[in-house]
Amino acid sequence: MKIGFLKEVKDTRVAISPLVVLKYEKIGIEIVVEKGAGQSSGIDDNDFQKNATILSKEKVIQSSDIIISVNSESITPISLFKGKIVVSNFSGESNKDELIQNLKTNKVTAYDLSLIPRTTIAQSMDILSSMAGLAGYKAVIKSAELLPRMFPMIITAAGSIKPAKVVVLGAGVAGLQAIATAKRLGAIVQASDPRQAAREEVLSLGGKFIEVEGAIEDKSSGGYAVTQSKEYLDKQKEEVSKRIESSDVVITTAQVFGRKAPVLVSKELVSKMKRGSVIVDLASSSGGNCELTVDSKITDYNGVKIVGNSFLASELSHDSSNLFSNNVFNFLNHIIKDGKMINENDDSILSSCNVIK
Ligand code: NAD
Repeated sequence: MKIGFLKEVKDTRVAISPLVVLKYEKIGIEIVVEKGAGQSSGIDDNDFQKNATILSKEKVIQSSDIIISVNSESITPISLFKGKIVVSNFSGESNKDELIQNLKTNKVTAYDLSLIPRTTIAQSMDILSSMAGLAGYKAVIKSAELLPRMFPMIITAAGSIKPAKVVVLGAGVAGLQAIATAKRLGAIVQASDPRQAAREEVLSLGGKFIEVEGAIEDKSSGGYAVTQSKEYLDKQKEEVSKRIESSDVVITTAQVFGRKAPVLVSKELVSKMKRGSVIVDLASSSGGNCELTVDSKITDYNGVKIVGNSFLASELSHDSSNLFSNNVFNFLNHIIKDGKMINENDDSILSSCNVIK
C-alpha cells in the first residue's frame, strides 16, 4: 500500500510530518510526498530523509493508492485523480456540491475528515478538535497583539495597570483553549455556553461562567449544542451584553452543528464597546457570531477591531501540521488492515466520511 501526500494550494499546513512517516513505516505503508509539501510549515524535503519518496504532484497521484491533502482545494485538476481514493477536509470548500459531482464523474472515492464522528473511539482522528484547540490559543494571542493594553495586572512605580477583561462566547474545544490561554496571560475571563457540561470546564480553568437559565440540551446530539429558543437567546444577550460593554477582548466560537452560527454580538452592542477593544470571531466562516464580522478580514468599527478568521490554526503551521498528521495517521491506521482498506459497510467511522454516496 502506497500513500501520497500533496502540497497544499492555499494552506500553510501539510498532512505528513517526518515523525509520522516513521509510524507508517512500522505498519508497512510506503509514503510519497509532493516536492516542497512541508515548506510553509518549516519542513524541508530532506527532513523526510530516506523514509519517504519526494515526487512531483503528477507522480505522487499516479503512484499512490490513497492521496491525502489538508484541504480539498488541493484536489485539482480532478482529471489527474481518476479512479483514486482521496482523503481531505472538505469543510472549507465554497463549491462543495460541484466538487463532489466532479469527483463522482471521475470515479474518485472521497473521504471527508471533517465528517469523522465525534465519538470517544474516533477522538484521535478528529481534525476539528485538534485544529480548534490551536485556533482558540491563537485567537487570544492575536487579540493581545491588537489590543493597546496588557493582559496581566501590573503594579509599577509609575502606576498600576488593571488586568484585561476577556469574554469568551462558546466554551467548546476552541473556547476552552482560549479561556486557558487568556487566564495564563493574566486576564479576567468570563464565558457563556448553553451546555451545562461547559460550565464545570470553564470553572476548572479559573474562568467565570455567565449563568443563563433555560438552555435546551439534547443528549442525542453527541455533545454538540442544539439551536436555542428565542427566550434563551434574549436572556443570554442581556447577560452577555453587560459584560461585553466593559470588556477589552471578546472571543467568539459559538457554533451549532450543520447550521449558520448564532449572532450573539449585534452592531448595537459593538457600538457600546470601548474604543481599542478587539473581537476575534472564530465562527466567521459559518456566518459569524458578530453581526459586523467580515470573513477573512480585520475590520474596524468605531475603534473596535473585528477579526473574522476561522482558520487561525493554519497560522501555527508547525504544530497544526504535526497534529493533523497524527489525526490522518490514526484514521488510516484504523481503515487499513493487512495492507488493504477495510470494507466501508463494516465501519461506521469510514462510512460516515464518504462524501461520494
Ligand atoms: P462547536 O465548534 O460545534 O461549538 C463551539 C461551542 O459553541 C460549543 O461549546 C457550543 O455549545 C457553543 N454554542 C452553541 N450555541 C451557543 C450560544 N448560543 N451561545 C454560546 N455558545 C454556544 O463545538 P466543539 O467545540 O467542536 O465541541 C463541543 C463539545 O462537543 C465539546 O466540548 C465536547 O463535549 C464534544 N466533543 C466531543 C468529541 C469527542 O468525543 N470526540 C470531539 C469534539 C467535541
